[in-house]
Amino acid sequence: MREAALYERLADARVRCDLCAHRCSIADGERGHCGVRENRGGTLYSLVYGRLVAHEVDPIEKKPLFHFLPGSSAYSVATVGCNFTCRNCQNYSISQAPRDHDGLIVGEEVSPSQVVAWARRAGCRSIAFTYTEPPVFFEYALDVSRLAREEGLKTVWVSNGYLTAEASDTLAPLLDAINIDLKGISERFYREVVGANVRPVLDTIERLVAERKLRHGGHPILNMGAAGAVIERDPAGNRKLTKDKSISRIDGLVALTMAVGSVAKVENVVATSPWDDPSFRLSA
Ligand code: SF4
Repeated sequence: MREAALYERLADARVRCDLCAHRCSIADGERGHCGVRENRGGTLYSLVYGRLVAHEVDPIEKKPLFHFLPGSSAYSVATVGCNFTCRNCQNYSISQAPRDHDGLIVGEEVSPSQVVAWARRAGCRSIAFTYTEPPVFFEYALDVSRLAREEGLKTVWVSNGYLTAEASDTLAPLLDAINIDLKGISERFYREVVGANVRPVLDTIERLVAERKLRHGGHPILNMGAAGAVIERDPAGNRKLTKDKSISRIDGLVALTMAVGSVAKVENVVATSPWDDPSFRLSA
């Protein structure tokens, strides 16, 4: 158990968690919507710090990331808990465990240094926070990430993107790659199936890409993809992808990606993706 990051103390020993877009206001003795952050006497605690419920060696393509360290393995870890309640969750037995078992927190005590040591021993090039939802074990993920960086390992998040701006700003300097799972595009779908709202997810995607806070360790492809997608606001203030403007740019990006891939294959210049070569640079 650790004191939580990113929360505010309110009157009457309440706290407000500012980690995800639910921004739960939590009374003393209660937990937030995710079921793993608890107010004890006006201090918010993460109940899942270091309590791993899964740790596996996965291909990076399972995250799924295709142009990030292709062919490598990612040491993948998770605790119980999630800030969503998706009806179609394939990992519900761990993501919803506290809800389904009267708040029970299960998991093996594993220090951040042990995770990094296991990852190195397994020959992994990255550590992935996945299976459940990384923000609900934010403090642990950040501590593991700091050690991973020191040991030359990359960090990967597989996330639903339901982050506050404060959380994504804190996370970005320690993140090498992220897959944000946009599960649908309507508020109705998110409300009825996911138990959340879509707007904060779109905001996170737009913020992380538009502010160029994530660079995939120098990969130009993310920046080019972002530049190819033109997002404008309609008269009601809703953000929308402008298809006509975006498609020609994205077509160009796809053609370029294929051309570079085939050149690298013919000349056999690199063993991995050319996008991983630090000397390879393109401007959008
Ligand atoms: S991380 Fe948990 S406690 Fe914090 S706002 Fe999200 S659901 Fe609520």
